[in-house]
Amino acid sequence: TLILGIETSCDETAAAIIRNGTEIVSNVVSSQIESHKRFGGVVPEIASRHHVEEVTLVIQEALDQAKIDIEDVDAIAVTEGPGLVGALLIGVNAAKAIAFAHDIPLVGVHHIAGHIYANRLIQEMSFPLLSLVVSGGHTELVYMKEHGSFEVIGETRDDAAGEAYDKVARTLNLPYPGGPHIDRLAQKGQPKIKLPRAWLEEGSYDFSFSGLKSSVINTLHNAEQRGEIIDAEDLAASFQESVVDVLVTKTARAVKEYEVKQLLIAGGVAANKGLRQKLDEIFGEMDGIELIIPPLSLCTDNAAMIGAAGTVLYEKGKRADYGLNANPGLELR
Ligand code: ATP
Ligand code: MG
Ligand code: FE
Repeated sequence: TLILGIETSCDETAAAIIRNGTEIVSNVVSSQIESHKRFGGVVPEIASRHHVEEVTLVIQEALDQAKIDIEDVDAIAVTEGPGLVGALLIGVNAAKAIAFAHDIPLVGVHHIAGHIYANRLIQEMSFPLLSLVVSGGHTELVYMKEHGSFEVIGETRDDAAGEAYDKVARTLNLPYPGGPHIDRLAQKGQPKIKLPRAWLEEGSYDFSFSGLKSSVINTLHNAEQRGEIIDAEDLAASFQESVVDVLVTKTARAVKEYEVKQLLIAGGVAANKGLRQKLDEIFGEMDGIELIIPPLSLCTDNAAMIGAAGTVLYEKGKRADYGLNANPGLELR
């Protein structure tokens, strides 16, 4: 099967051609990061306008690079949610228009299912598996007993991990997106500033990062008032250690309880060096569990992952009709 994937949920306009759910034939991403940088975050109206300008060009480029015509694709898979409603609408409407014009089946894909399926472009999945999703808007532990089945066993109650990184970066006057900058500082610092870890109730797989974020901000303000200078590298290292400690400890507990064969990492925070090191340390040599971390280009938003997830849904017979709509609050299941 050849699937055209389309992704416009946030600030990347992307299209890709995927063969048999596992092979990238082409993968085109147009990022708008430069347009949003000066506002310190994604501006929804600007995102929508960029998507309108880019979407047909990006789709054509994906077909050209794959050296195929639109008639050659078996289905179109598009992100229907969650995300920015105005941004999602551009991809959904482009997909519907092309599907209608060429009489091609249409499949709606959950954005986070896409992030998880980026892993299948690296390594075939073996079930049951667990995925740690750490992105700009989500922090979740997802259990999968088979293809297309998602059980969220834990999620953040406030900020997502990436969001916490970006907010902490902002208080340190670092440019958007701040995650990579904090990561870079953390490599040079020592985690010697005491910061909290939110374990929540015993046995809970949920996360919470807003208390940690506030604690970082308070530490900075208190030092400022006393006329002291806090070492930004040490603060970044301490913050990172807290985030990674909670993420990896909860993940390790879930891996054991659910007796999974694979641990898949998904989302942009998977680029984090501290997180990668710790995951490798804990799971790299662990018997009976395979750790998969996709390359960065497949961790951040792209359409290859949407094509990969869409292929599974298509093969299971899932079809969307022309009533398909953007759903910014779509649940994963
Ligand atoms: P969602 O999929 O939840 O809607 P998103 O797609 O916008 O969110 P991603 O593109 O997957 O999110 O990830 C972006 C996030 O990853 C940003 O918050 C960014 O700061 C963070 N990030 C990127 N690199 C690193 C890093 N090295 N360390 C920590 N965070 C990072
Ligand atoms: Mg993004
Ligand atoms: Fe995403």
